[in-house]
Amino acid sequence: MIQIATSWLLLLPILFGLGWLASRWDLRLENRMDERERVRQQRSTFKGLSLLLNEQPDQAIETLVKIAQLDPETIELHFSLGNLFRRRGETERAIRVHQHLANRDDLKPRDRDHAAYELGRDFLRAGLLDRAEASLNRVGNGKYAAPAKESLLEMYQIERDWKKAIIAAIELEGLQNKPHQTEIAQFYCELAQEALRRKDLMDAEQSITRALQAVPNHSRALILQGDYLVALERPTQAIEVWGRVADAHPAYMHLLADRWMAAYTALDKAEVGLERLCGLLKTQASGELLDIVQKHMTQIQGPQAAELMLVDVMHHSPSLSALSKLAETRLSLAEGNQSPEKISEIQSILGLLKERTNSLARYTCGNCGFRARRFYWQCPGCNHWEAYSPRRSEGAAQSGPSM
Ligand SMILES: [Zn+2]
Repeated sequence: MIQIATSWLLLLPILFGLGWLASRWDLRLENRMDERERVRQQRSTFKGLSLLLNEQPDQAIETLVKIAQLDPETIELHFSLGNLFRRRGETERAIRVHQHLANRDDLKPRDRDHAAYELGRDFLRAGLLDRAEASLNRVGNGKYAAPAKESLLEMYQIERDWKKAIIAAIELEGLQNKPHQTEIAQFYCELAQEALRRKDLMDAEQSITRALQAVPNHSRALILQGDYLVALERPTQAIEVWGRVADAHPAYMHLLADRWMAAYTALDKAEVGLERLCGLLKTQASGELLDIVQKHMTQIQGPQAAELMLVDVMHHSPSLSALSKLAETRLSLAEGNQSPEKISEIQSILGLLKERTNSLARYTCGNCGFRARRFYWQCPGCNHWEAYSPRRSEGAAQSGPSM
């Protein structure tokens, strides 16, 4: 018995050795199969990329989507591919790629959020706003929560859905720990303006109060508060509120100067209103305010007074617009008591000056450089709020976009 056991004991190391060799063989076989699969997938990836480079994007999508099903490691490649399509304006293809990712059940929560976010951006770009909203709202509380909320905020502004925009901006403040009070004040101002247009004065008052809570002494909110008081037939109070604009934001006075004069006229004090506006010209003569003051002064005090005022402005703040207004006033003074030759001379000078001021006088966005003939609270070029300087410039046209 002992002899048999000893011979078995001698066999044991040999059996172990054989077992080890067999396991190594299995491992090598497995590795070789893995290697073959990897090479196959690599080939498919290259095939997909080459189809893409050969401008066959639809076939490329099919090939790459198949790889993604087999190999979850290619997820980043798919995000890059989808974003590439979107940047090229091929939103339909971007949607297909991102939709495929969003529909997969095996994605990690972070990748699922990423896919929902990218899909939302695609829908937004394609103008499919309902679907964009649904996709962006699916994004969870992780890394993509703030970018998704920013996209929702952008979308609500496109839709002019100011109430939803306010909620999104407040939520974004919490996510980014960064204030959005200027935008919130502007959204309330948009609501107030709409309410004033439909003569819903109670709603207008509420929105103006909220805007002033967001940004105390906000220029646009004060302008609208004056409009609201005029609608209530309280011109004295409207002038009082607009006086705060004159003190704190004089550069914005051209936006309300005509209504300011109407309120003073309603109180039979047009001269007083005009005098206050003239006082502002000492610092604000380079913009539209000068056009408005010249118009009212000509009506109330006559062209001689307007000429004196413009000569004074040319003295302390010379500009092409002031010179053009001076020529205009001198033309109206010359008509009736000057020779036809003299009148024709002033007319040709005025024509040239108007041509120059019309082509150069623009409001410019401080963020993207977009130049526009009229003032905007939100830049039509980059959608930033309060990026426009309230002062019109007469500088040479830049290479940036303009309208
Ligand atoms: Zn801009």
